[in-house]
Amino acid sequence: MDSQTLMMLSEKYIAHTYNRFPILPVRGKGTRVWDLEGKEYIDFFAGLAVCNLGHCHPKVVKAIQDQAEKLIHVSNLYYIEPQIQLASLLCEHSFAGKVFFCNSGAEANEGALKLARKYAKEKIGEDRYEVITMENSFHGRTLATLTATAQKKYHKGYGPLMPGFKYVPFNDLKAVRDAIGPKTCAVLLEPIQGEGGVNIPSEGYLKSLRETCDEKGVLLILDEVQVGMGRTGKLFAYEHENIEPDMLTLAKSLAGGVPIGALLIREEIAKSFEPGDHASTFGGNFLAMAAGVAALNAILEEGMLENCRRVGEYFLSRLEEVKKKFPFVQDVRGRGLILGLELKMEGAGIVREMMQKGFLINCTMNNVLRFLPPLIVTEEEVDRMIKALEGVFKKINNDQLSTVNDQ
Ligand SMILES: *Cc1c(COP(=O)(O)O)cnc(C)c1O
Repeated sequence: MDSQTLMMLSEKYIAHTYNRFPILPVRGKGTRVWDLEGKEYIDFFAGLAVCNLGHCHPKVVKAIQDQAEKLIHVSNLYYIEPQIQLASLLCEHSFAGKVFFCNSGAEANEGALKLARKYAKEKIGEDRYEVITMENSFHGRTLATLTATAQKKYHKGYGPLMPGFKYVPFNDLKAVRDAIGPKTCAVLLEPIQGEGGVNIPSEGYLKSLRETCDEKGVLLILDEVQVGMGRTGKLFAYEHENIEPDMLTLAKSLAGGVPIGALLIREEIAKSFEPGDHASTFGGNFLAMAAGVAALNAILEEGMLENCRRVGEYFLSRLEEVKKKFPFVQDVRGRGLILGLELKMEGAGIVREMMQKGFLINCTMNNVLRFLPPLIVTEEEVDRMIKALEGVFKKINNDQLSTVNDQ
């Protein structure tokens, strides 16, 4: 079937919860994706920070193939070898003593919220259930994680939301301190906000927040669904801050593109989860676990973190040059390979023009161009993308100048 027919069938049969760009990717390798028409794109979006290793990483592909031939599902009533391997690897490379596996970021955050409530009720008091989250956060689309997501646009039409959440501005320590009360059990936040516009907190904010949580007897939960697994140049974003969280959630890139979610838990807190307390049919299944082991080993072994740091710094410096040249660029920011360019106008048209030029980029919050390339992206690919972006920007500059002259 041709692209047009397929797109028409998609509109006919698939719920309209997404605004899709009119291309149909069918093949990918490394930083490249090809559509049904054979057009090549350099991918600076990586399936929303999922394909950190690049598309179809050979070790991930092989792990899925080998596992699919052996065993696909038995359920968590039995011990599952690759699940044990992935949990061991995650604990060895983080603060965690235990891991709970599920299938998505929202589910990982649901698990964190449930465990925070249960732990606090058991250890501190019956009335401890409230969770503080940050404005412009994003934690998922289930009712609880949607409520945790402090952005009105996502809440519209879904009331009544879950009770027990309080919102404060991101990067404002005093606001959190003022909000913590006798009912508070946890603070949940992204160490760098992704959907909220690539917002990086000030130096020392997370450290002070950790100290505040310790002082008040409140759990610190980090949502690293988007920025974990090497995206910031370290395996976990919290490693930049000299702190450890009590819980941390992962999903997106954890299994190199296969659906997965994980809740990493400090040993002492994990004790509040007993048999029967929480579960997931597919959580920790063979395919996702085998892919996860291959993906994590690839990140650790192949110099990806180093590449991410080096190319990330270069990328940010190139974006800073772009900002100097174009007055409608408000700000640029980034750490490792999550970068944002904030515009003084909407960015959707720019994303479309970049796609025509063969580059997949993203726009979030209407006016922040977001770049999330695979961690294997090269300086040369960054140069090509920046050149294309400057081409689009020059056209906007000229258009704006000509409107000024017309008046
Ligand atoms: C994408 C995302 C989620 C939700 O993950 P799903 O797998 O879509 O449920 C949660 N938190 C953050 C920070 C995310 O970027």
